Amino acid sequence: MAPTALQVPDYHIHTSLCGHATGEMEEYVREAERLGLSEIGFSDHMPLLHTREPSLTMAIADLAGYVESVLRLKGSCKGLEVKLGLEADYIPGQERQVEELLSRYPFDYVHGSVHYLGQWLVDHPAHTAEFDRRGIRKTYEDYFASVTGAARCGLFDCIGHLDVVKKFGHRLDEGLLELVKPVLDSISGAGMCIEVSTAGLRKPVQEIYPSREILEACREAGIPIILGSDAHAPDQVGYEFARSLELVRAVGYREVYSFTGRKRTAVPV
Ligand code: ZN
Ligand code: FE
Ligand code: FE
Ligand code: ZN
Repeated sequence: MAPTALQVPDYHIHTSLCGHATGEMEEYVREAERLGLSEIGFSDHMPLLHTREPSLTMAIADLAGYVESVLRLKGSCKGLEVKLGLEADYIPGQERQVEELLSRYPFDYVHGSVHYLGQWLVDHPAHTAEFDRRGIRKTYEDYFASVTGAARCGLFDCIGHLDVVKKFGHRLDEGLLELVKPVLDSISGAGMCIEVSTAGLRKPVQEIYPSREILEACREAGIPIILGSDAHAPDQVGYEFARSLELVRAVGYREVYSFTGRKRTAVPV
């Protein structure tokens, strides 16, 4: 039996082009239909501009085909809206290149995500030793400084997985909100959304991104939200969205957002 219809968008979906996700785009769409989502937004990893790493992102040469495939699905789906998104890495110094690349295609929305701190892929399981080398406080400071850069650069609609730095269970014991609040001011000042992502529930931290404490501060700062599963396989579409909806309602959100052509509209929850 199909689960109760969710009637909300899932705006964080990858495709096999990134080299670490599986399944056909049509399978993700079918799963979204089965769940009764209102929309599915593909947001595959934008090609890296400083290096080519086939297990992390699509190649530059794949981008046009990615866009074409999503646009084709958009035209062929009846009950479900398909949106064209992208998950861009925020890397200081690449802003103009990213801007140029984003301007080429009719994206509905773009996530700005911080995965790299310099050369370090902070969310990669093979590189966690750097947490010990750098220290947790310094890592959090560096990470949230980069998120502030992503907010201020004006290129993105949404900050992806806002506190992904906690992914492997490295937590800042003291002063998290003091560190995060000015970052939230930059995000709200930029008129951006943040993503409430259930991906953290599949990771060692076993917690939604962002934490309830941070999400409450987002709510107070008036920051709108979108929902994402960060699906890397078709069966992860809408992953644990019941928990996500429970959390966002509990902290006082009454709507999530939908994007069309980089303009947002409210969806009641
Ligand atoms: Zn990925
Ligand atoms: Fe990401
Ligand atoms: Fe992602
Ligand atoms: Zn992601």
